[in-house]
Amino acid sequence: MKQADVLILGAGCAGTSLAHYLENLGCGERVVLLDSRTKFDREQRWCSWAKMPKSLAPLVSKSWQKWTVGDENYSIARTSDKFVYQQIYAPKFFEHFHTRWQKPDTLIELNLDEKVERIEEKSNYVEVTTSRETWRANLVFDARHQGSANLKNLEKSNNAYLHQTFLGWKVMFPRAVFDAETAALMDFRTAQNDGVNFIYVLPYSDREALVESTSFSQNPTNWGNHLSAVTKYIAENFGDDYDIIAEESGELPMTTAKLPTKSSERIYSIGIAGGNARPSSGYAFHRIQRQTSEIARAIVERRTIQSSFASNKYNFLDAVFLESVARNPNSAREFFMRMFANVEPDSLIRFLLDESSYRDDLAVIGALPKMRFGAASLQRLRREFSARKGKNEELQTSHGTLCDSVGEPFHRLAARRVGR
Ligand SMILES: Cc1cc2nc3c(=O)[nH]c(=O)nc-3n(C[C@H](O)[C@H](O)[C@H](O)COP(=O)(O)OP(=O)(O)OC[C@H]3O[C@@H](n4cnc5c(N)ncnc54)[C@H](O)[C@@H]3O)c2cc1C
Repeated sequence: MKQADVLILGAGCAGTSLAHYLENLGCGERVVLLDSRTKFDREQRWCSWAKMPKSLAPLVSKSWQKWTVGDENYSIARTSDKFVYQQIYAPKFFEHFHTRWQKPDTLIELNLDEKVERIEEKSNYVEVTTSRETWRANLVFDARHQGSANLKNLEKSNNAYLHQTFLGWKVMFPRAVFDAETAALMDFRTAQNDGVNFIYVLPYSDREALVESTSFSQNPTNWGNHLSAVTKYIAENFGDDYDIIAEESGELPMTTAKLPTKSSERIYSIGIAGGNARPSSGYAFHRIQRQTSEIARAIVERRTIQSSFASNKYNFLDAVFLESVARNPNSAREFFMRMFANVEPDSLIRFLLDESSYRDDLAVIGALPKMRFGAASLQRLRREFSARKGKNEELQTSHGTLCDSVGEPFHRLAARRVGR
């Protein structure tokens, strides 16, 4: 049996970030990071407005000071002196940390090609069985969202749930067609097949950009719709004399279901498995950095680790938003357009980063259509009230456990072939 003080399951964004913060703080514990994968070159780009910690700043591959949101009628362009929209290219992030940790005598031990099969909490340690070893660990951080127990037990009841899916091509044109300084966050000039659909354009130069079709829908995706949306959008806006350099696709949950960090005294969930995807946007990078850096500090300073990083304020507002979108997809488009048009960029970004003041919140709420937002809020309050009442009654009659209800199983991230 092998020993670890801190055992991290999953060396994706959250697992690697936690190991990195522990290393940075000079953690004296034996930290072991495992992953079933051997390759970390899957196309993935993480964008965020969050200020990058010094240690991650050199990994930013591109940033944009200007962004737009638009539809057939008008386009809103915004900038900020305080915030920039920045991108980290995931394969570079993994290469940067993993190459070092695969060498001997580093603070972090990285083991790839090691699949976690079972986790069992014993009286004063956790036993983790993998395809290679049995580990005995003091603390376990589980970042596996594909098939994790946390996500397997998700229940849809009382939780808003939408599938966010996206498929994009990194394309190269032989001539200048893009404005390299402006990211198009949402362009609604695309077919509204099912739910809310928009195109996202991240230009890297005047010839090269990622053009991605995204949808928020109650139904699992139709990848064919994404392919035709991307093809059509590029042809109509830039031409068709381009090469496809790479393809990125993914599926993220948009749910207000609770995914708590703490599962037991010694087992914690991190990353998406620990509820770090912002329900109304699917953005998870900034929450993952916040959660894993705070956990690392708590471990090094021997403090209690927070049992949840969820915020009731954002959960409530996001639930109202998701329910409005589920009922009337067109309202999402209007909500986003109004927010970007009418809210000061800094206030809106603080709101999107979970860092808003009440003044910022009021500015965001004030920009939304009052009748519809008010009605959706009341409906959400009624649902929460009846869910709570139901739970209390259940407790009184059956002494059922007060476990958090959580959403539906994760869909496998679709890896798709590059080419036309
Ligand atoms: C294509 C794409 C683009 C995204 N873009 C953005 C963005 O721009 N901004 C943003 O904020 N968020 C973005 N996200 C969302 C989010 O930031 C990422 O999904 C992020 O990778 C989540 O980190 P994680 O550690 O929770 O999960 P992952 O990075 O998926 O890590 C989980 C790890 O667990 C491993 N694992 C699974 N099962 C086992 C097992 N049994 N044994 C051992 N290991 C196992 C997996 O191999 C994987 O490495 C994007 C997501 C995708 C898919």
